[in-house]
Order: sequence, then C-alpha cells, then structure tokens
Amino acid sequence: MSDYIVRDRLLGGLEVFYRCPACAAELRSPLTDAGDRENCPKCGISYVVPGEPELAEYEHRKRQLAKDREELEARELERRKQREREKKKAEAERRKREEAAKQAQASRPAKPNEDDDGKKIPKYNSLVWVAILLRILAVLNVAVPLIVFLASFETPELRSAAIQILLLGIFSAILCAFWAELVEAFRDHVRNGWHSRRTLAQIAERMEQTSTPTIRRDTVK
Ligand SMILES: [Zn+2]
Repeated sequence: MSDYIVRDRLLGGLEVFYRCPACAAELRSPLTDAGDRENCPKCGISYVVPGEPELAEYEHRKRQLAKDREELEARELERRKQREREKKKAEAERRKREEAAKQAQASRPAKPNEDDDGKKIPKYNSLVWVAILLRILAVLNVAVPLIVFLASFETPELRSAAIQILLLGIFSAILCAFWAELVEAFRDHVRNGWHSRRTLAQIAERMEQTSTPTIRRDTVK
C-alpha cells in the first residue's frame, strides 16, 4: 500500500495521512516519522510510515531556506559594515577639511584692516575728521589773535587787549591739540582691540605647536 497524502499541520510542520497496509485503518503521523517502523494501533502489524521522498524534499527545502536566510543575513551584515565604513570615511574627511580650514585661517597673515574671522575692521573715519577739525581749530585759535595782535601793534590802547586774546587763543589751541591727540588715541585703541584677539589666538597657536601638548588652544583662548 503506497497511497498517502502529505498535508500542512495546523500547528506547523507536515503530516502524512495513510491507511494501515493490513486492516486499512486511517492513520496519520508527523512527516518527520516517515521511514520509521511503527505498529498499527488497531491490528498491531508493523509497517513503515510512508512519505520518505516528501520528507527528504521537506528537509532539503528547510536547509535551502536556512541557507538563503544565512546568505541574506550575511549580505545585510556586509551592507551595514560597508555603510559604517563609508560613514567613518566621510566623518574623517569632514574632520580633515575642518582641520585644513582651521590651519589655513591660522596661517593666514594678519591684515591690519581685518579681524580674526577676516571681517573688515571699521576705520572710524569720523574720529579722524574730528581730530582734523580740532587741529584746524587749534591753528585758528593762534592765527586769528596773532593777526589781530599784529594789526593792533601800532595802536597801544588795543595792544593789551590783543595780547590777552592771543594768550587765551594759545591756551585754547593747546586744549584743542590735546583733544585731537586724545581722539586719535581713542580711535587707535578701539581699532587695536580688534587685533588683540587675533594676536592672542596666534600666540596660543604657536604655544601649542612648540611647547608641551598639555597646553591646548581652547584653554588659552
Ligand atoms: Zn492495521
């Protein structure tokens, strides 16, 4: 008797349905028992559970599936590793570019009219003009009373007043010149403030290059 059916079992796996070769009782066994010798529960005859080719195919398919899954997982793993490598490479390149940019900026000579980031430092021209006007005023403060004094030299009654005006003019001229110097000094101070930050950074950079590696730029900054 070779008549049998192989079916999916409800709870997974396969089942073989067949009849007892002696009493034709309806029997069933899990496909994994195919090829095993068993006894009929009704008549007790010994028989071999059918379905060996199906079992072989089933096992083969199972192995194939496992192999496919392994290959798939290996490929997925390889892909993930590849992505990881690419990410690391990109990260390294990005860091290299940043480092190069930093180096380029550090080695760029300090221009007198640019600050640390290469931005133009304002010239504060208005302060220059204020200083020039103060100097002109200083010159006029002396020049005008001097002309008055020279013009009144022949008239003695005006002379003393002219001398007083001249002295006053000289005094205010000194004041104006002093203020002009002060304004220019203030302008230089403000403009130098822009440089000093960059100078500090360059000093720190040089220290980092020449001295112990424990001195870091950001701590000096
Ligand atoms: Zn039987």
